[in-house]
Amino acid sequence: MIASTMQEYPLTITAIMRHGAAVYGDSECVTNTGAGFRRATFREVTANAERLAAALVKLGVRSGDRVATFCWNHQEHLEAYLAVPSMGAVLHTLNIRLFPEQLSHIVNHAEDKIVIVDDNLIPLLARSLADLGGVEKFIVVGDGDAAVLGDRVLRYSEIVAAEEPGFDWPELDERSAATMCYTSGTTGNPKGVVYSHRSSYLHSMAVLSATLMGITEADRVLTIVPMFHVNAWGLPYGAFLSGATLHMPGPFMTPDQLTRFVAAEKSTLASAVPTIWNAILNYGAGADIDLSSLRAGTSGGAAIPESLLKAFDEQYGLRIVQGWGMTETSPLGGMAVPPAEVEQGTPEDLQWRLRSGRVAAGVEMRIVDALGEVLPWDGESVGEIEVRGPWITGSYFRDDAPEKFDNGWLRTGDIGTIDGRGFFQITDRAKDVIKSGGEWISSVELENHLMGHPAVAEAAVIGIPDDRWDERPLAFVVVRAGAAVSAPELAEFLAAKVAKWQVPENWTFVEEIPKTTVGKFDKKPLRARYKDDELKVERLR
Ligand code: AMP
Repeated sequence: MIASTMQEYPLTITAIMRHGAAVYGDSECVTNTGAGFRRATFREVTANAERLAAALVKLGVRSGDRVATFCWNHQEHLEAYLAVPSMGAVLHTLNIRLFPEQLSHIVNHAEDKIVIVDDNLIPLLARSLADLGGVEKFIVVGDGDAAVLGDRVLRYSEIVAAEEPGFDWPELDERSAATMCYTSGTTGNPKGVVYSHRSSYLHSMAVLSATLMGITEADRVLTIVPMFHVNAWGLPYGAFLSGATLHMPGPFMTPDQLTRFVAAEKSTLASAVPTIWNAILNYGAGADIDLSSLRAGTSGGAAIPESLLKAFDEQYGLRIVQGWGMTETSPLGGMAVPPAEVEQGTPEDLQWRLRSGRVAAGVEMRIVDALGEVLPWDGESVGEIEVRGPWITGSYFRDDAPEKFDNGWLRTGDIGTIDGRGFFQITDRAKDVIKSGGEWISSVELENHLMGHPAVAEAAVIGIPDDRWDERPLAFVVVRAGAAVSAPELAEFLAAKVAKWQVPENWTFVEEIPKTTVGKFDKKPLRARYKDDELKVERLR
């Protein structure tokens, strides 16, 4: 082997921050305050990050200490995203939608020393307060009442104002911890994923590339995906690398507020989970909204129904491109950017965007069957998706979880196919797939077809025990306000779209489908309600 002549240059968040401040100092972070839009340039944001780091040092924060945030998407959260990792500490983003016991478990498991919290989120945090004895200080963003937090309170604006810019950032090892985030814990206790400076840098570069989101200085990115879960898909760091302006909704996450933001500030790109896109569509049906500045939207976190993609195409000329990822993958593992020969706006274009993604450069993917055999990329063989790469976790924080790994590959728990060009389709979570008579039925596919019916607002399908077939599908349906539809009508509708044996014979109509902390359908309570015999189930056969 001969050595290369290249420099050993550490890939760090400090480098991302310096680049943004030096090259794109005039790009902005724009925060919705409810009363208007608060603007700060990247230069100002970086100066505040320097002040924040100085203040945190005075509070005793040392290399490797965990500093948590319990915040919406806004300027101060961005400052913490830059300051905490760059000073050598670890930014721990806390999901504001966790149950109180999960929240205190996570804070204590991570040993968070400081929690930066929005004043309007104090009531949520306070529910866990009795179990947060290890937290030394709460730094409150905003000047709302914080009395309930007791004498550990400091004000963000005061501690930052008391310092000067010009912090002397340390030299960091690119492999050291930069940020951390716990999985949403739909099965068992949440697990901690710790991102390194290097993984964050490489992931951010990938997010910017045209094979994923293609973000440039010309973009104004409405970051609807929360900064409190998996680094908001890498958009904050991506903006500092590319000079894109960041649009931050703060707590104003309703469709009227989000669409007003787009119209007022001319957002060019918006990233959200399907439930938010659905809410925007429903809102737009009864209000005059202007999405014309958006060049594209991205969706991820759960499968997006075809009807939703189509509605945005047809009603707003807005192409939403789907991506796939998870907490363990930083999160982006791929985006379904259609192949070069496909013309935008055609029906074919839409079908490609319904794929879960195309494998991102930097990520290796394979599918494996129940016996551990690696399956071909033929678009048909169905198995568990496994991934490896520089921004894929190789373990969990203080939890080895060997069952989650397969010889250096992360077992994603997602079931799907990959075709010969690296487009993959998630057909289900391993725990949600319905095993009927030795065949698998995709609950996601049934749900998406059902949600394409004009009378259906939401639908979720679970497997229930069946003497003959082991499991059969049970469909939960939420009927759109003012509409009416029967189970036989829906069964007939489905029979035109999937194999007959896949059509559910068990149906129940409900008021709503429960959602997880990150807005996905939560099937656990649905299973419990079925088990506890709380449902009126209509049987068609
Ligand atoms: P989380 O760790 O909370 O971000 O959840 C990750 C999980 O969300 C993945 O393992 C998938 O099950 C699901 N997911 C993410 N993106 C998609 C997508 N485009 N289609 C289907 N499921 C998705």
